[in-house]
Amino acid sequence: MDYVKGLKIKPRAEVIKEFIENKEKARELINERLKFFNKFYDFNFKKISVKKQNSRWGSCSRKGNLNFNYKILFLPKNIADYIIVHELCHLKEFNHSPRFWALVAKTIPDYKKIRLSLKKEFNDKIF
Ligand SMILES: [Zn+2]
Repeated sequence: MDYVKGLKIKPRAEVIKEFIENKEKARELINERLKFFNKFYDFNFKKISVKKQNSRWGSCSRKGNLNFNYKILFLPKNIADYIIVHELCHLKEFNHSPRFWALVAKTIPDYKKIRLSLKKEFNDKIF
């Protein structure tokens, strides 16, 4: 759990090395989980990018590109799934309206609990 927070104080060269070493593993996980959840949603997305960021777990662009932080590889599986579904649902609802949360709840019924845990234990900025 402290691992993610700990990344911030690592020397820059070490962080870059860790990113290079884990980027493809993170991409595999993201692709696999996106494919799994999108069997349910069937949304269209374009490019998937894996990035090294300090302040975001993921984001979705209006053009339909999805971005994820490689550090989701180190999160508990249910939290990583929530982040992936969150961004996936923004393809349909580009907002945080009740309609958006209803979409998330279709595959992550306990998303409220997971959000709370993300907020309390990890950096919670997701857009
Ligand atoms: Zn969002």
